[in-house]
Amino acid sequence: MKYCDNVNCERSDEPLERISDYRIMDGAVLCIGCAEEMECAYCSNLVTTLDVPGVSDDEMWELLAEEHDPECEWIATRAHVAV
Ligand SMILES: [Zn+2]
Ligand SMILES: [Zn+2]
Repeated sequence: MKYCDNVNCERSDEPLERISDYRIMDGAVLCIGCAEEMECAYCSNLVTTLDVPGVSDDEMWELLAEEHDPECEWIATRAHVAV
């Protein structure tokens, strides 16, 4: 039985029974929800959104930072808007 390999996945303890329930990406099993996540161009983490919040929207940037590498340049520069 396959399970989603994304450690942040809410459904990672649900078995993926049908082939239509998951995708294999770079050798990792991802449920359909996770397979639709995008890859950050800076830290290569899989993220749920690459929408850019307002530069002064600290709360939103803190939330987004959780999906990125601690060193991620996209987060550090607030998508280069703040520099
Ligand atoms: Zn998943
Ligand atoms: Zn990033």
